Amino acid sequence: SATHQKVDRHAPPPPAAVKAALSKIHPPPPPAIVTEPGEDGEQYSTGLFLGKGGFAVCYEGQLVRNGRVFAMKVVRSEMTQRKMAEKFRTELEIHSKLRHPNIVRFHRAFAFDRCTYVVLDLCSNGSVMDMVKKRKCLTVPEVRRLMIQLCGAVKYLHKRNVAHRDLKMGNLFLDHNMDIKVGDFGLAAMILSEKEAKRRQTLCGTPNYIAPEVIDKSKGGHNQKVDIWSLGVICFAMLAGFPPFQSKTQEEIYKKVKNLHYVWPKDNECSNFIPSEAKDLVSSCLSLDEEQRPLPDDIVDHQFFNMYPGCIPRSLDPSWKQTKPVWL
Ligand code: ADP
Repeated sequence: SATHQKVDRHAPPPPAAVKAALSKIHPPPPPAIVTEPGEDGEQYSTGLFLGKGGFAVCYEGQLVRNGRVFAMKVVRSEMTQRKMAEKFRTELEIHSKLRHPNIVRFHRAFAFDRCTYVVLDLCSNGSVMDMVKKRKCLTVPEVRRLMIQLCGAVKYLHKRNVAHRDLKMGNLFLDHNMDIKVGDFGLAAMILSEKEAKRRQTLCGTPNYIAPEVIDKSKGGHNQKVDIWSLGVICFAMLAGFPPFQSKTQEEIYKKVKNLHYVWPKDNECSNFIPSEAKDLVSSCLSLDEEQRPLPDDIVDHQFFNMYPGCIPRSLDPSWKQTKPVWL
């Protein structure tokens, strides 16, 4: 027909081999309308590109029926069958059972056009990582509010015998109200018993946030206490503007972690006053002995949340993603 496109068999190969390899992992952009299979399958119109991760691509998706906007995480279906996709399956199994105001809500997952679509709460204000990068570091009242929300989410997970195991600023998303939503449950594990916990010896997590007992496999597995370690790292990083054990190589990070070698910045370096209560709280989370680390409830009871000037903002303003707030 007249509209038939000519195929140029002599066209040069794609410019970058890397690009080609990635395009095999990441799914192509979804069509304008995505339809859930089944009799009352919903329709979503796809919107803005939100970002991409290891093998997922994220887009905004608007439910055609009522206009509600979600985040749609898209993964090639063939990926969900391979061994490498174990991360994704755990993620679906664990994440789909969680309901908490500070955890990205999993709405549904379905197959469409050789891809798996996961419908999630939309977090339109990016991640805490983006915010800290822009701002360099956050103020004490902001950190208090974020830590309290984070502790609520972690308490909920641990009560349900789930360890997140990959808590880091890049996995803490901010919704339209600037409330924290913990996301990315790809490394989360159900801790069924202490014995099961001890059995787990997988090396996981981003080195910057890794707990000592995860490095030192001879000590046996690890449990939810790795999340408390990460809370200490996150709290330090929000106040200081860099993670405590930052180094060029993995070996150096491990060495620093095992020696508990971290240095707080001088107060004026990031134009932030870091109170001794914050340092005390972080040091309790960063205990080499996991038994010494506080529970989420102990953290929110800490003096850091009570000291002068004792303000915990009721909400954060989206403009604070770029601009430091002034506390009167
Ligand atoms: P992966 O598990 O493959 O690493 P992620 O879950 O990290 O994929 O998602 C990739 C990117 O998509 C994130 O870095 C973020 O920019 C964006 N994203 C993920 N989930 C949401 C969400 N719920 N709301 C808004 N953006 C999101």
